[in-house]
Amino acid sequence: MTLLAAALAVLLVVLAVVQYRWVGQVSDGEREQLRASLQRRGREFAMELNRELARAFATFQTTPISEEQDVAARLAAAWLEWTRDARYPRIIRDVYFVEPADGGGPPERLSRFNRGTGLLEATEWPAALEHLRPRFAREAEDVQRQGGSSFTIVRRHAPLAEEIPALVIPAIRFRSREEAAPPGTIRPALAYTIALLDVDYLRGDVLPALSEHHFNPAGTTPEFLVTVVQARMPSKVVFQSTASTVDPERVDLRQPLLEIRADDMGRVLLEQTRHAGPREKSRTTQLRFAVAVQQGEAAGGPPSATSAWQLLVTHRAGSVDAAIRAARTRNLTISFGILLLFGTSIALLVVSTERARRLADRQMEFVAAVSHELRTPLAVIRSAGENLADGVVADPSQVERYGRLIEEQGRSLSDMVEQVLAFAGAENGQRIAARQPVNIGELLADVIEATERITGGSLTLERSIDHELPPIEGNRDALRRVFQNLVDNAVKYSGDSSWIGVGASASGGELRVTITDRGMGIEASELRRIFEPFYRGRGASAAQIHGSGLGLSLVERIVQAHGGTVSVKSAPGHGSTFTVVLPAPPASSVNETSVAQTFRA
Ligand code: ADP
Repeated sequence: MTLLAAALAVLLVVLAVVQYRWVGQVSDGEREQLRASLQRRGREFAMELNRELARAFATFQTTPISEEQDVAARLAAAWLEWTRDARYPRIIRDVYFVEPADGGGPPERLSRFNRGTGLLEATEWPAALEHLRPRFAREAEDVQRQGGSSFTIVRRHAPLAEEIPALVIPAIRFRSREEAAPPGTIRPALAYTIALLDVDYLRGDVLPALSEHHFNPAGTTPEFLVTVVQARMPSKVVFQSTASTVDPERVDLRQPLLEIRADDMGRVLLEQTRHAGPREKSRTTQLRFAVAVQQGEAAGGPPSATSAWQLLVTHRAGSVDAAIRAARTRNLTISFGILLLFGTSIALLVVSTERARRLADRQMEFVAAVSHELRTPLAVIRSAGENLADGVVADPSQVERYGRLIEEQGRSLSDMVEQVLAFAGAENGQRIAARQPVNIGELLADVIEATERITGGSLTLERSIDHELPPIEGNRDALRRVFQNLVDNAVKYSGDSSWIGVGASASGGELRVTITDRGMGIEASELRRIFEPFYRGRGASAAQIHGSGLGLSLVERIVQAHGGTVSVKSAPGHGSTFTVVLPAPPASSVNETSVAQTFRA
């Protein structure tokens, strides 16, 4: 059993180690997975918005502007196409067109496209667009200086004015047949379409929808805190999915947002070219422009690659690491909890098996002890009987002695059988039935008298029993057994001292009986165990004092059944004192019949 328990304990430890490592590996895997998924979702989030921008950029190009073509008509067609194809058409709030004044010079003349009439209406520069003017002047100068090489303008051009934010779309012209250069080549722009973005709409509708779609599906507890800040000034928050702010320095994901990317542009143009039809020529130009943007990006520096905003995502737990750590702690707690439960069950099993084994051992010892106890009186009775039958004993005085011997041994046998039966009854949990008022003083006097009769005066029995003892509500036979057992033990274990004291007194609603001897005493280590059934003290066994180990356990059970306690004090070699305390209700609370009887010892 101990070997098995040890093996199980080792197994538990091994399991715990394996479990610990395994939970660690699972956590590492989860962390990687969560990070990868976060990156993917961030990319998709940004792509969805960026592609819309690319679509707007491609759609609102007024290219080609030939002298004959009306820009307003081109913009009207673009607007139609935009509202038809875009997922969030309202992200474009207003469309403007800027071109050089009639006398030439930099693009200065601004007109606003009126969606209702489909016409361009001349307008003053609104404050929001004001700072585009120096930029246009600079770009016009560049074009003049470089003599109209086809892609120069777009190389340096920033398609997104992120501070507004607005799309700034250059208008590229084809050279007409009449112009000097070969017909059909591209002439750089001196005109632009400006598509103003609706930040309120982006903030109030588009970003919440994207955040919900990519990070926190509706109906679930939000797992991530999604924040959008201005790229140049991260302290300026454009949008956040919850009230709690995110520290821009410590985020799980950082993704540029609101930018015109060449790859998105390419994809959008490809889509549009698929159903191009009659406007194919214009598409080709757009495509070329896209290539130009790509070249611009490849060139490394131009601001075409910068984003207006930045998407910041953090796990609700503080960070992905913190979330994984928390999950790991939880998993470890659960699995170690299970192991602990398992271990405790094993320990309990071992303990109870051990107890059952000890009980079985003691029962075997008990059977042996009882048989041994029975053997002596039986042998005496048998040989006395034989002698009588054979007529060996003829003398009447001898016959009388034999008769007394047989009677005594017979009583001893009956006592033993009674004890065993009483123990079996108590063991089966039978209650001490038939209660009546018992006079303890009288009971003790009976016990002392019986003991004196058996010991035949070889023993000093000193009594100090109060005269006025209240009656105890209880079972007389059972209580008699208690005191008889205690006095018998005192006799058995009194050794050479031959002195026994019996005391009884009542106070404070309690009746206290003490039985004292000056005999061998009990080792301190055994004091707790002597009340266990079948337990026999080492001294008792060594001195070959007969007994079954049942007496004190019976005493304790009976006393407890009466609501009392039994305790022992002992000094090895000097004797022991057993004290029984029984509840003795004041006379008035005992029922009428018992009130009448206040016995005298
Ligand atoms: P038994 O006396 O038959 O062995 P008990 O249950 O009455 O069984 O007592 C249990 C043990 O307690 C005894 O074996 C003995 O070692 C110890 N014991 C009981 N009473 C005394 C006593 N008065 N003095 C010394 N030892 C005692």
